Amino acid sequence: MKGRLHSIESFGAVDGPGIRTVFFMQGCPARCAYCHNPDTWNECGGREIAVDEIVHRAKRGLPYYGNDGGVTFSGGEPLLQGKFLLEAIEALKAEGIASAIDTSGTYIDEDSEDVIAAADMVLLDIKHIDPAKFEELTGREQGPLFRLIDIVNRLNKPIWIRQVIIPGFNDNADYIEALNEFISDIKTVKKVELLGYHNMAENKYERLGIKYRLKDIKPMNADKLRNLSRLTTIA
Ligand code: SF4
Repeated sequence: MKGRLHSIESFGAVDGPGIRTVFFMQGCPARCAYCHNPDTWNECGGREIAVDEIVHRAKRGLPYYGNDGGVTFSGGEPLLQGKFLLEAIEALKAEGIASAIDTSGTYIDEDSEDVIAAADMVLLDIKHIDPAKFEELTGREQGPLFRLIDIVNRLNKPIWIRQVIIPGFNDNADYIEALNEFISDIKTVKKVELLGYHNMAENKYERLGIKYRLKDIKPMNADKLRNLSRLTTIA
């Protein structure tokens, strides 16, 4: 079986615990205003990749993974390619390599539960806890987010929560308090990370001829982000 791949990052240190090989899968149904990788959106873009190549590339990192590291499937939205991911995760497992799914909570289908069951952990980018803001930001409804949380809870799957903080949008203590409350419904949260908005992808949008919706918003102030991070219940 073949999947569609945008790119591979060796020695990734931010997309899950330990050192990881990160496969950025091609295709995303969302259109997040701050997306760094609009070139992953097109499901027909990128290139084909076979499960064998995933395993071959992932095995190169084996000396560095230690007890915590492994592979992360990111995107784009990796759950768009559930059947491929399932095969890849099982093949990696046979080599003793752990897998994480880095999902946006904007998409779920009949394969997603099996994928999450097979994976060792989930990274979830919570776009916004308010349904209207979620839709404004992503162009998608919030339903898949709740279905994903339900699956994670039922399967008792370890999860890291990530939240992008955007000036003037959710950069305040009230939002973090509401986020803490929202997350308290997920029983297996191991970490909450606040990520500061930055506009480094703006040039990419220009090149692709796509309108950059956050043009007037300045990058998130690092001190303010640090202070807000102290308010999260799980660091
Ligand atoms: S879900 Fe991720 S890849 Fe898709 S548009 Fe949003 S930020 Fe970009």
